[in-house]
Amino acid sequence: MTEDLEAWDVIVIGGGPAGSTTARYVAEGGKRVLVIDGRDSIGSPLQCGELVPTNDEMRRLCPNVPDIDDLLQTPEEAISRRTSEMHIVPPSGKPLKYPFDGLMLNRVIHDEWLVKLASTKGAEFMTGSRVEAIEENTVILRDGRRLKAEVIVGAGGHNDPLRRSHWEESSLKIPIKFVLMDGDFGDAVELHFGSMAPGGYAWVFPKEGGANIGLGIQRELSKGSSLNSLADQFISKYQGEITFRGAGSLPMSGTIQSFVKGSHLLVGDSAGMVLPSNGAGITIAMIGGRIAGQKIVSHLENGTSLHEYEIEWKRQMGSVMRNSKLSFMIGSWIMRLPDWILNMAFNPLTKPFVWRFVTCRKPFFIF
Ligand SMILES: Cc1cc2nc3c(=O)[nH]c(=O)nc-3n(C[C@H](O)[C@H](O)[C@H](O)COP(=O)(O)OP(=O)(O)OC[C@H]3O[C@@H](n4cnc5c(N)ncnc54)[C@H](O)[C@@H]3O)c2cc1C
Repeated sequence: MTEDLEAWDVIVIGGGPAGSTTARYVAEGGKRVLVIDGRDSIGSPLQCGELVPTNDEMRRLCPNVPDIDDLLQTPEEAISRRTSEMHIVPPSGKPLKYPFDGLMLNRVIHDEWLVKLASTKGAEFMTGSRVEAIEENTVILRDGRRLKAEVIVGAGGHNDPLRRSHWEESSLKIPIKFVLMDGDFGDAVELHFGSMAPGGYAWVFPKEGGANIGLGIQRELSKGSSLNSLADQFISKYQGEITFRGAGSLPMSGTIQSFVKGSHLLVGDSAGMVLPSNGAGITIAMIGGRIAGQKIVSHLENGTSLHEYEIEWKRQMGSVMRNSKLSFMIGSWIMRLPDWILNMAFNPLTKPFVWRFVTCRKPFFIF
């Protein structure tokens, strides 16, 4: 027998960066919001490279996004170390070096903190409860409980149940393996491109006393090599004790056509809000979460259309996402070339163009 529970203004499925941020802004707007997450402790286990741009870097990357400091608050205890350089490394191993202000996070602490932030604003969290299905305005949990809300938000990441059941559009997903390794890995964050990571990239991101090292590929470009063997080959180039092994999947085809259907919304990875040219998803999910939260509040208060969320997203992030998708498309084609051509292509003359690709600017100054 199922039990009918009280109704909410908003139910958010998933309490990652997208869901917690959506809930934070819905609660700030005075509405009753419940976040349901299948994990007992949101943020664990780790599934991340843990690199985010600093807020100054975000202002350069996403110039139309207002009040970055209010949105992206990172407590000191969630920062493992600060980095000031990014190396783009072709197969030859000779890097192109760029100034880049980044934060290496302790991602688990970061996500737990976002949950606390939303809770202090009045959002409620139900953890250890998986959402099984969504029927109109009812959310059905695996244990059979049913909950109602005026608006339901799918923030369940790349495998979100609302996206799976109510949207037909598919996204390209890149499977990833990564480790945490003890040791000293210098100061720069490194992105490696070439046949070691077909259609994707590998990374070495230094943390305090170690590094987060990982690799993601496009399976259809890997010519039969498995993710496991490619990841093992790349990671074995580095010496140090492995303290954690993780895996995950990242949507890499950019945002889907529409984030809103009736009273259902998608945000974060479930809506494809990852910049495909550099894999940034945490801060982008939070940008989407703030817009979604604010537009849900005006919908509930003034009856404005939920599609305002999509319109505002396009105003703030449309051109960045468009450029990033284009860069990824061109990049995926270039990455099919043999390593020796890539080695020639990554050179001091092309250095500014490579950086435009990675930072989601128009790849060539003219289009
Ligand atoms: C291996 C890896 C490395 C990455 N590295 C970086 C990086 O270095 N920098 C960066 O910016 N981004 C990185 N990303 C991307 C980033 O992690 C995501 O873009 C970001 O987490 C998106 O946030 P989200 O809230 O949309 O989804 P998630 O963080 O995935 O959160 C989704 C939540 O929904 C819950 N959930 C899912 N299904 C259900 C269900 N049916 N019922 C209840 N709860 C459910 C999950 O338990 C989870 O807590 C990486 C991703 C991966 C996989």
